[in-house]
Amino acid sequence: MSGNDARDFPFPRLGRRGFLAGISAVAVPTALGGLTAGGAQAAPRAPRQSRTIVYGTVLHFLRDPGTQPDPQAWQLFDPGALVVGADGHVEWVGAEQDVPPELGNGATPIDHRGNLVVPGFVDAHIHASQVDVIASYGEQLLQWLQKYVFPAEKAFSSAEHSRMISGLFLDTLLAAGTTTATVHPTVHKTSVDAFFQEAQARGMRMLAGKVLMDREPYAPPDLKDASVQQAEADTRELIDRWHQKDRLTYSITPRFAPSSTEQLLQMVGRLYHERPDLWLQTHAAENKEEVDTVHQLFGGRSYIDVYDRYQMLGNRSVYAHSIYIDDQDRTRLSQTGSSIAFCPTSNLFLGSGLFDLDAARGAGVRVGLGTDIGAGTSYSLLATLNEAYKVLALQQQKLPAMRGFYLATLGGAEALYVSDRIGNFQVGKEADFTVLDWAATPVLKRRMDVAKDFQERLFALMTLGDERAVRATYVLGQRKYDRPAGVQLPS
Ligand SMILES: [Zn+2]
Repeated sequence: MSGNDARDFPFPRLGRRGFLAGISAVAVPTALGGLTAGGAQAAPRAPRQSRTIVYGTVLHFLRDPGTQPDPQAWQLFDPGALVVGADGHVEWVGAEQDVPPELGNGATPIDHRGNLVVPGFVDAHIHASQVDVIASYGEQLLQWLQKYVFPAEKAFSSAEHSRMISGLFLDTLLAAGTTTATVHPTVHKTSVDAFFQEAQARGMRMLAGKVLMDREPYAPPDLKDASVQQAEADTRELIDRWHQKDRLTYSITPRFAPSSTEQLLQMVGRLYHERPDLWLQTHAAENKEEVDTVHQLFGGRSYIDVYDRYQMLGNRSVYAHSIYIDDQDRTRLSQTGSSIAFCPTSNLFLGSGLFDLDAARGAGVRVGLGTDIGAGTSYSLLATLNEAYKVLALQQQKLPAMRGFYLATLGGAEALYVSDRIGNFQVGKEADFTVLDWAATPVLKRRMDVAKDFQERLFALMTLGDERAVRATYVLGQRKYDRPAGVQLPS
C-alpha cells in the first residue's frame, strides 16, 4: 500500500539521481553543527557546512515485504552509502563504490562501516505523559488508568514539570533510535506546549495533540475538559500555535470512547472534517472490559462502529490496539484509510490480548508499531518487535525480520501518513536515520558470529536488540544521539 498523501504535504524532490546501489561498519563523529529544526514545509533551515556521506550497511524498504519476504520490497547495500545534502535531505543511496563523484567530492564522510544504517524508527503510539508510569504493578486497563496514569498526568498542569518530562522523553526516544512518534501528552495545554517546544528544539518530526476527555468516571473530575466548547477552543488555539510549524503536526486526540461524551466525539468528528490538514489519534478495542463499557455507553455494532458514527475514521487517523475487532471493522478501517498501532509490550503487560496482524494487513489496513509507554515496557522498537513476534507466534502467525524492520520504519510512516517525508531513503526524503551495532552485547556478538546470512543476523538483532544496540541517531542528517564510546555494555 502506498503511504503517500501528497495532497497534504507536497514537497520538492531533489532530483532523480537516486536509488541504485548499498550495509556497513563503525563511526567517526562528524561535525555536529547547529540544530536544524526546519521541516519540508517549514521556515528555511540553517545551512550546514557541507553534504555528508554516511558509510555503512544500508537497509531500507519500498513496501511491506509480507510474511514470505519479497526481495523487491527492500534495498540492501553492503557496503553502502547514504548521501545527505546540506539541507538534511537524502540526495542519494546505493552501493559504496557507486557514489557519484560530483556528490562525493568535498563531502564530509561519516564512517559507520560494520554497523547497520536504517531509517529512524517510527513509534505509532506513545504517551509522553507516562514516563513515570512505566512498570507499574498489577492492573488491567481501566483500573490501571485510575490507579497510576491519572495521578501522574495531573502533574502536567505545571509547565516546569511538562518541560522536564518532555525533554527526558524525547531524549529517551532518540537513544532508542526513534525519530518520529505520534504522542499523547495530557489534557493540559501546558503539556502540549512543552512537548512541541522540546520536539522543535531537537528538530524532530513529531505528531501530538491535547488529550480530550470529559466523561466521568473514566475521566476524573480534576483531569477533564471543563466543557466541549472549552476543549474545542483549547484545541484550536494549539493548532494555530503548532500545526505544521517546522516538523510538528497536530493530531486531534480524544483519549478513548469511555472518557468521551457524545458531544465531545461529535466535536472531534466535525473538526476532523472541517480541517482535512489535521490528524487524529485515539485508542480502540484494547481490553474486553473496556469494549463492554463502550457497548453499554454508546450501543452500536462495535467499538469501531462508534467512532465511525462520529465520522472519526479516515486518512491520518490512528487507532491504537484494535485487538477486539472483526472483519467488518477491518474492512471499514481499510476503506476509510484509517490506521492501527500494534502495541505488543503493552498488550502483554496489561493482559489485554493478542493483536491479529495478518487479518489487519490482509484487509489492507495500515499498521504501525507502538510502544505505548507507559503500559508498554520498552521505548525500543527492537524490543517491541521481539514481543510482536511472540504475540503473533501465539496465533500461529509469522513475523520475518524484514517485515519487522518494515513495520518499525516505512510501515509506521505509512500508518501515520508521513511516508512522503520519512520512512525510507528515497531521494528527497528527510534524512532521519539510526545506526545499529550488530555486536552491542556479548550475546549479540556471539549470535552474529554464527549466523549464516543477513536475514538471520537481522532476526537476531530484532530479537535480542534494544537501546544498547543503538550506536547513533541522526535527525535531518545531524547526530542527535551518540552512544558513549568505549562503554562496556552488559549482556
Ligand atoms: Zn495508549
